Formats: sequence, structure tokens, C-alpha cells
Amino acid sequence: MKVTFMGQNNKVKYSDYVKMTKYMLELLLTPKEINQLTVNLSFERGNPDHVGKKGETFEEEFGEYHIWIRPTMSIREQILTTAHELVHVKQFVRKELCPTTGKILSRSLRKLNPTNSDDYFDNPSEIEANGRAPGLVQRYMRNSS
Ligand SMILES: [Zn+2]
Repeated sequence: MKVTFMGQNNKVKYSDYVKMTKYMLELLLTPKEINQLTVNLSFERGNPDHVGKKGETFEEEFGEYHIWIRPTMSIREQILTTAHELVHVKQFVRKELCPTTGKILSRSLRKLNPTNSDDYFDNPSEIEANGRAPGLVQRYMRNSS
């Protein structure tokens, strides 16, 4: 697994960020899946596409993921957002979520929204990301203290 960084973030140590990313991915994916991954973490500022967002993830190509995290948030919020975005990485790797259309490809995930509501909080990929993120953070904190 490879982790790269773009942009400046004075609140975090990159070596700790790599450890955290690996730790959380180990709770989400198999060792084989993790080995083949590249995660490009961006702390870019001032991009108009990021207005109103805490973070976002997209697939650059299969196995290579770009994660943007808002660097001006508190460290706690950055960690929680990173955990959330890593759940989306898991969804892309497992082909549960289509990286181009955002369509839910996993039947079990789709069952989380029987109403077909398109509200953010009813989106199965977000239900899973918001549901798993706090647990990933809590276990990382417990493990690294
Ligand atoms: Zn999300």
C-alpha cells in the first residue's frame, strides 16, 4: 500500500496519518486488497468544488483513490472525516459503489434504503460511511494511546 500527500496540513504528522490510514483500512479490507492500494491524500485549500464539504473521495483508477480532507477543520473532525472517506474507498474496492455514477451496486447495501429517497442521509453508501466512521476512530484512538 502506498500513501501520498498533497497540500499542507499543520495539524497532522504525515507519519501518523499513514499509520492511521493503514490501521483503518485493515478494519475494512483484506490484506490482499490493502496491498494493492494507493491512497492519495489531499489537504488542498481554496478549491471551489470543495465548498460546503468536509471531505471527498474519488477513484483515479481501480486501486488508486484520491481523498480530500478539509485541513482547516479540527484534528478530531479530520480524523472522523478520513474514516468516513476510507469506508467509501472500501465501497469502491469491493465494487459496492460505482465510482463514476455513484450508483449503489451492492444488493445488501441497497436494502438500507427501501424508500428510494435521494436524501444524503438515506443514501446507503453514506449510511454505511457515517455508521462505521465513529467505530473506526474509536478503535484507532484506543489502539494508539
Ligand atoms: Zn460520504
